[in-house]
This record gives sequence, structure tokens and C-alpha cells, in this order.
Amino acid sequence: MESLLSTDDALRLLRTVFGHSAFRLRQDEVIADLLAGRDAMVLMPTGGGKSLCYQIPAMMRAGVGIVVSPLIALMKDQVDALRQCGVRAACLNSTLDFEEVRSVEAAVNGGRLDLLYVAPERLLQERTLEWLGRQTIALFAIDEAHCVSRWGHDFREEYLQLSVLHERFSSVPRIALTATADQATRREIITRLQLDEANVYVHGCDRPNIRYAISDDENGRERLWRFLQSEHPADAGIVYCLSRKKVEETAEWLRARGRDALPYHAGLSDHTRRRHQERFLREEGVVIVATIAFGMGIDKPDVRFVAHLSLPKSIEAYYQETGRAGRDGLPSSAWMNYGLKEVVIFRQWLAESEADEAYKRVEHQKLEAMIGLCELPTCRRRAIRAYFGEEPGEDCGNCDNCLNPPQTWDGTETARTAMTCVSRTGERFGVNYLVDVLIGKDHARIRDWRHDRLEVFGSGVEHSAPEWRSIFRQLVAQGCLRVDADRFDALRLTDQSFPVLRGERSLTLRRLRRAAPVKKGKSAVAATPFAGTDEALWQALRRTRTALAKEQGVPPYVVFHDTTLRELVRLKPARLADMERIQGVGESKLRKYGEVFLRVVREHMPAERNSG
Ligand code: ADP
Ligand code: ZN
Repeated sequence: MESLLSTDDALRLLRTVFGHSAFRLRQDEVIADLLAGRDAMVLMPTGGGKSLCYQIPAMMRAGVGIVVSPLIALMKDQVDALRQCGVRAACLNSTLDFEEVRSVEAAVNGGRLDLLYVAPERLLQERTLEWLGRQTIALFAIDEAHCVSRWGHDFREEYLQLSVLHERFSSVPRIALTATADQATRREIITRLQLDEANVYVHGCDRPNIRYAISDDENGRERLWRFLQSEHPADAGIVYCLSRKKVEETAEWLRARGRDALPYHAGLSDHTRRRHQERFLREEGVVIVATIAFGMGIDKPDVRFVAHLSLPKSIEAYYQETGRAGRDGLPSSAWMNYGLKEVVIFRQWLAESEADEAYKRVEHQKLEAMIGLCELPTCRRRAIRAYFGEEPGEDCGNCDNCLNPPQTWDGTETARTAMTCVSRTGERFGVNYLVDVLIGKDHARIRDWRHDRLEVFGSGVEHSAPEWRSIFRQLVAQGCLRVDADRFDALRLTDQSFPVLRGERSLTLRRLRRAAPVKKGKSAVAATPFAGTDEALWQALRRTRTALAKEQGVPPYVVFHDTTLRELVRLKPARLADMERIQGVGESKLRKYGEVFLRVVREHMPAERNSG
């Protein structure tokens, strides 16, 4: 009887099946809702523990829990991870052959399944809906629920039709989950999925373990290299680039320098993409260089860094992409370097897009907000929190601006010089030409245009060319200059130029930040490394994990997360009973792997404890 289901039982499952000691955030309240047959809507940051909110009630309630997810590539790993914990799970999607489908259906018909992952297009087939109509359904979980939002970056047509679940299975509780927190999307999810009666759980979007850093260096790739060498010399991570070409080039460049880097973009064959993704998931230390086609549904918990070599088109996109780092809660980096070029490209795309005006206006605002975040001289995390409608809180102490506050200066005079140069040369030249005029460079093109006779010619020698380019980038970012959509890189004045030119408005600019030298020794971000025998034990545990994973054809983290292995190093359990207390060790995994890992720990014990 459902009324007998209690959160005490839920806690028992959390401990024995998943090996966690207590519920996090408000997982227990969400679970209580579903157990009582109520709907819920959960916004939790990536890595917050959304899955357990429906997995546990699906195991407790009568019937099978249906999980709708657009991420077919991810389903197998999710199912594998559940099976490792002894949960009866399966998936239904286009990758299964006829026999496999038959056997999954038979398991559901026989009441032998707790959780079934289904792609939305599959679920919405009349045949599937009819079949489910004859089953006992524990609940529907709609994962990545923001896909229902038309203006979101992951819109899926089929998600709009998911309201059918409410209409056809009105007594089955539903839970919608997403990590995308902005208010408009939230409202859209509620209306479109008819979740008006759902209890809404909103958790701060903050990811305190991620360190944010944004720069606009001219040589992004070199800067990336310094960052990787100093902070993540052997870690797995993702590098995002805007174009396929840049993906290919960057991957090759990193490989030439000795990193295990693989490209990933829509122009590669399915086979190649799959192989690269597999290597990223199943091996240690692989770097994926990708367009944004990569990442949706990458559940790898130990992605230690996400680097952007170009500007994301909105803070939502930036946050979702960087959110793929550090799902396991260990220290991780979100690093980005951008250039004026991408600002230009995005603005041009928008100008030329055939989309309706309302859409363009929203996209434009989102882009401007993203640029604003880049230009910000103060705490990035506070700005992100404020953007998502949260209390911004204190300065975080874990972003570039907190750790190394940028120097600012009154750039009003300089901005005026730059704008005058734009205006006197007729608003038809790009940054490089304008800079040449300002520093008084002698070349034919300038002479041809007779710009060497202008008063501004050579009037900016107090700044170097890179400094001037940084100044122009900032002026564009602040909206005091704009890039002409018709003439690819020509800078033009804007409405906001005039108050500055007339001396009615002053401008604060950032000083060009010199790249930090590569630090020797301990990295600020990397999780505390182990010393001596502990390091040897850590490596041995990782090797054991990889071997066990390989045998079963699953990613290593499905066996144990890094957090569990780190605990093993720290606590060095001697008996199964000690090991059981460690995070991530449930009954099923204890049975399967307990002895193997205990043996590894024993082999690495200092001699005196071995003999004693
Ligand atoms: P999300 O789907 O919100 O990104 P997951 O459900 O994948 O997050 O959970 C992220 C990680 O947190 C997983 O490794 C999971 O095992 C762990 N986790 C979830 N709930 C708890 C808990 N109550 N205690 C400890 N770890 C938890
Ligand atoms: Zn900060």
C-alpha cells in the first residue's frame, strides 16, 4: 500500500543501494511528494543529485518508473550504473534490436523492472502509449525538462507533446527535472507540461567547486596551453570551439604538444564521434575538443575542466557547458578566452537571421548579458547568481576577479580618441587599421586614404597595439562602438558614443591582463594530490577500477567515483564492514568489489601495519 511508503524506507534504500549516508538538499521532500502521488518540479544544479529524486520512489512505488530523456547516448551508462547498484533498470530506444526490445517489454509486462528509460519520440508512439496504458506505472520522470522551452538552447519538438502524459495517465505522479534555472524557462516548463499542481523545488544554481576565469587575450590557444599545463596537466576535460575547423586545428595542436586530444563535431562520421566519446568516457585524461554538439548528456563525473576558446551565445549556454565540469563536487575549472571576432560573428548572425523580431531581441539581450559577464571586473559568481534571479551573496573568492582583481582606469579620454579615429576615417575600417592609424604606422593603405594627414594619426602612441585592440574590444562590448553587419569588420559609432564624445559620460576600462606565468608545483585548482605511498595506492585503485570497468564494458566511474577512491585512500579500510561506510559503496558494489579493493589497500599498507 502506498500509504505505507515512508521516507525512512527511502533513507534505507539510499544507504543500502547507493551507499550514501544522508539526503542532500531537499531530495527527501521531493521523494516524499512522489511517494504520496504528487507532482514535483526540481531545479537543481548539475551534480546536485537529481536522479535519486525519481530513482528511489520508482523503486518503492508499485510498477515501473518511466524516465523520459532526450539523451539516448547516455541511457546505457545510466542503466549500467543502476544495475551496478543492483537496481532493475533498462532502456528503450532506437539503438536496441527487435529481440532486445521484446525482452525489455517482457520484463515490464512481468513486473520485473523498477526503471525504464525511454526516448521521447519512442514514448509518444501510439503503440508505446497504449502498451504503457496496460501497465502499472510508478511515476513519470521528465529529465532535461528545459527542452520544452522554445527559446531555450536545447528545444525538442517532441517535448511539447509530453503533456499527453498528464492527459492519459492522470493518476500517475510526474516529476520534471532540469539544471537550467532562469525564471522564464521555469514558467514555460510548468505551463507546457501542465505541472500547475506540482511542488516546485528550486535550489541555488551555484557550483562552488568550479573556478571561473574569463580573459580576452589575443592568443587564446597559448593561454589555454598555459592553463592546462599549470592547472590540469593530466586531467580529462572539454575544450569548446565555435567552428569545426577550429576544433580540428586545436585538437591537432594539443596532440602535437603531447595531450591526448580528440576532435568532436557534427562533420565527423557517427562512428568517429562515438569512438571519441567512448574514449573520453572510458579512459583517463582524454581531452575532447568540440563544437557545442558535444556534451549534452555527458554524465562523466570527473571532467576536471571545461575550456571555451570562443564566446558562448548566452549565459545559459555558458553555464550549462561549464556545468559539465566537476559533477563529483571536486575542484574543477571553467576557463574561457574570447575575442572580438566572435562578438562580431554572433551579432552578424543575429542581424541576418530570418527569425522573428521578438526572438531576435531575446537572443540579442542574452548575448549582451554574456558579453557583460566577460567584461565584468568584479566577482563572476555573484553576477551569474544574480542573472539567474538568486541572491548574489558575498564575493566568492574562487573566480579570477576575486583571486586577482583586474586593474581599472578612467578610459574616457582614450575612448574619445578611439571613437574620433573611427569617425574621422569614415566608419568603414576594422580594428587593425584603426590601431595602425592611432599608433601612426607608416603603410601604403593609410597613405592612399590620406589618413596620415589626420590629427588622430599617431595620437595614441602611449598605448601598444595589443592594448589598443583590447580597448576597442571593450568599447564594442560596452556598446560604445558597434561592428557593421554589412561590412564584415568595420567599426561604427553608436548612440552611446556621443555622450562620451561630448564629455557627458565617463568610461571605466580594464587594463590588459598579462598572462600569469606557468606555476611550478602544486596547482591551485587540482584536488589535493596524494603523497608517497598514498599516491601509489591511488594509482593502483584507479588501475583496478579501469580493469573492472573494461571487463564489463562500462565507464570506470560506473564502478566507483573518484570521491569513493579518494575515501579509500584516506581511510584505508581493513574489513568489509569499514568499507561499507564509505560514500558510494552500497550493498551490491560491496559484494561485487569489496574484496578486490580491500586487497589493493592491504598491498599498499606500510610494513609495520602489515606485520602488526
Ligand atoms: P544531477 O542529475 O543533478 O546532475 P546526479 O543525480 O547525477 O546529479 O548526482 C550527482 C552525483 O551526486 C552522483 O555521483 C550521485 O551519486 C551523488 N549523489 C546524489 N545524491 C547524493 C547524496 N544524497 N549523498 C551523496 N551523494 C549523492
Ligand atoms: Zn568571485
